[in-house]
Amino acid sequence: MKAQPTASHFIDGEFVEDVAGRAIDSVYPATGAIVARLHAATPQIIESAIASAEAGQKVWAAMTGAERGRILRRAADIIRARNRELSELETLDTGKPLQETLVADASSGADALEFFGAQATAINGEYIDLGGDFVYTRREPLGVCVGIGAWNYPTQIACWKAAPALACGNAMIFKPSEVTPLCALQVASILHEAGLPKGVFNVVQGYGDVGAALATHAMVDKVSLTGSVPTGRKVMATAAADIRHVTMELGGKSPLIVFDDASIEDAVGGAMLGNFYSSGQVCSNGTRVFVQKPLLDRFLERLAERTRAIRIGDPMDELVQMGPLVSKTQLEKVAGYVEIGKAEGARLVTGGDTLSLQGMEGGYFIEPTVFADVTDDMRIAREEIFGPVMSVLSFDDEEEAIARANNTEFGLSAGVFTRDLPRAHRVIAQLQAGSCWINTYNLAPVEAPFGGVKRSGVGRENSRAAIEHYTQIKSVYVATGPVDSPY
Ligand code: NAD
Repeated sequence: MKAQPTASHFIDGEFVEDVAGRAIDSVYPATGAIVARLHAATPQIIESAIASAEAGQKVWAAMTGAERGRILRRAADIIRARNRELSELETLDTGKPLQETLVADASSGADALEFFGAQATAINGEYIDLGGDFVYTRREPLGVCVGIGAWNYPTQIACWKAAPALACGNAMIFKPSEVTPLCALQVASILHEAGLPKGVFNVVQGYGDVGAALATHAMVDKVSLTGSVPTGRKVMATAAADIRHVTMELGGKSPLIVFDDASIEDAVGGAMLGNFYSSGQVCSNGTRVFVQKPLLDRFLERLAERTRAIRIGDPMDELVQMGPLVSKTQLEKVAGYVEIGKAEGARLVTGGDTLSLQGMEGGYFIEPTVFADVTDDMRIAREEIFGPVMSVLSFDDEEEAIARANNTEFGLSAGVFTRDLPRAHRVIAQLQAGSCWINTYNLAPVEAPFGGVKRSGVGRENSRAAIEHYTQIKSVYVATGPVDSPY
């Protein structure tokens, strides 16, 4: 199986190659086969992407919001029309099963382009009456924005960053993760097919050094990163030097609290969604599942039954529910955490083994894994694993659950399962997290703000809130009488 296109970058409306850059091999995680060879951006490629974005941004910002919006919405339509092809590419890039990618990736990217395409027509300032004199404000674009992506949702991340940035009149240079370089190129190509002026959305490939070169470039006005906390810390520190805008979508170790009055099937289903979807490689996953003691045994029993029934295998087979992890490195990391969990004294309820599947012996498969008897101080309960490893902890009362749930450096997400709605709202209000759910988990519609508190990040993606992060306000005082000067 070969992936196309084989050109590494998309700059100024065209695919561009420069084989002088360090090689990036795109590996299909289900087999370990190399499906494309790309090259990291050289300094010349970076400079040409910046120059093209600067020129493109001026053309783009001069267009009306309605014109910009129409192009974004047209791109959304093209993405929907090519959903299968784009979903197969997403599966090739990430190893996520087609059953998921057909409904969660290209379509989520299209949702973002559609939503922000509509918002583009309504990005306005305000009029402030001063009784004669007045002030009006203009909501202006920032200029050239850099987007840097993680590898778990390559199409969605490219669109979640591009759609609001472009709707507001910015240009964006997007650097995909070196682990999943393919999908963003298709997003760029489709945006141009939809009529985007050249230079407004450029894609350059590279490792961390290319991300750093882009994030520190003098012509860049904003950096939006989706990645780990250590990378976020570095990017934010360099942005501080030039007082550059940032949005940081970072990691998590989110709590999911299940009270003993919850619907057990829903709570188990929510916990599985929040730990096993995309082989557990989701930043907002509820990886610390706190279950109230009276429900614990029944919860674990149903969880084990349903987890053992998950169909693992060839991600291109639509009946398969779980594919491999994204890379060998990630497999080794996750398998390492399973060993750490056992050594720390957690009880392995199910899973834990890496798998060699017939015909896919080179793939990075691991069983969905549940640990019980996990305590707050264990590493598997404190550190982000980013794989299908669920830690189940038990608790007695509400106050204790809230305190333990908040006892983490992260604050991306949180969930509560209970039939007692006053309690649900009371508990959610006290949880330190940016994206929360009551009686479900991990749904992230574009209409809702998404992002974290504490070390999980700053800023918000999606919703009207994202407009704030891709514009700046100019206020203009207008005098209507003579100047009252004491001099
Ligand atoms: P990572 O931090 O290793 O890499 C993220 C991106 O940053 C990559 O494109 C990488 O090349 C680039 N990068 C690395 N060093 C850089 C530097 N010094 N300057 C600029 N760019 C640099 O993360 P990952 O392993 O790709 O992704 C997994 C992490 O992402 C997890 O922690 C996960 O929780 C997080 N994540 C967060 C969200 C969210 O929305 N909050 C979504 C998905 C993933």
